[in-house]
Formats: sequence, C-alpha cells, structure tokens
Amino acid sequence: MKWGDSLTGHVMPRDPNCVFCKIVAGDLPARTVRQNDVGLAFLDINPLADGHLLWVPKEHYPTLHELPPDLLGRLCASLPRLGLAVMKVAGAAGYNILQNNGAAAGQLVNHAHFHLIPRVEGDGLGYRWPARQYPPGRAEELANQLQVVLAAL
Ligand code: AMP
Ligand code: ZN
Repeated sequence: MKWGDSLTGHVMPRDPNCVFCKIVAGDLPARTVRQNDVGLAFLDINPLADGHLLWVPKEHYPTLHELPPDLLGRLCASLPRLGLAVMKVAGAAGYNILQNNGAAAGQLVNHAHFHLIPRVEGDGLGYRWPARQYPPGRAEELANQLQVVLAAL
C-alpha cells in the first residue's frame, strides 16, 4: 500500500513539495524518535538545544488553525510526554513549546508543527519579547472586537 492510499477512502492530505510530508512518507531521512497514528516526532536538523524535537501531524495542514480540531486535540495530547522526554535527555529544568503560523511569525516549513525545546538556566536562548502597555481605552476596544470576531467563527 502506498502512502495516501486508504482502505476507508480517506486520502491523507499531502504536499509533494513539503519537506515534512517527505519525512512522514519516508522519502527524506530524519532522526525519528516516536510516532502514533496522527503524529511523528523527530529531531530538528538545526537544533536550538540538544534534543530539540519537532512534533508534526502526519497529514499536511499548513497552520494550526487549518488542522481539524479533533486531530489537533490528539496531537496536543502527546505534548506533555514529549516535553518530559526532551527535558530528561537534555538534563533540562524546563522546555519551551514553540508553534509558528505564517511567514510573518517566522514559519519556514509550511506544514504545521510544534517545537519542543529543552531549556537550562543560562542557556542564553532567552524568550522574553519586548512587551508594551495599552494606551487608555485600547484594551477594552480590542477585547470587544475579539468577542465579536470569535462569536462569528
Ligand atoms: P519553523 O520556523 O517553525 O517553520 O521551523 C521549521 C524547523 O524545521 C526549523 O527549526 C528547521 O531547522 C527544521 N527543519 C527543516 N528541515 C528539516 C529536516 N529536513 N529535518 C529536520 N528538521 C528540519
Ligand atoms: Zn507537509
């Protein structure tokens, strides 16, 4: 049976030009460490820290908000275990989960994925982005707009 074939008629979304689809299909090598029916975990080829893992859905969806919610839920259910694993192998005290959507947010591979990055004190990676403060009235305005947008989604 070839990738994409399905006994149930469900064809897995796949992009032939996508690097992660190629890894999922076994057409491109990767340091795979774990998989289940919905996801594949492998080492990031350019790690921010030893053990930096990527957790990707086996089906091709470019961004988080394009993933079917039930699939996303099942993917997220594996994050705690993967987070504990990267901490253990790296002797780390914590980890970041990073998930980029869109080029403006730094997404380079347009196949939704989670980064699991083990962290130790003083590793120099940082994470605090410059935070601002709302001018008077702006927070209320935005909260109202968000309520309206969310009610329509
Ligand atoms: P993002 O900016 O969130 O799209 O991150 C994409 C990540 O994929 C980067 O950290 C890359 O180092 C990683 N990456 C790209 N190609 C490969 C590959 N062939 N195997 C493993 N990791 C990869
Ligand atoms: Zn893909």
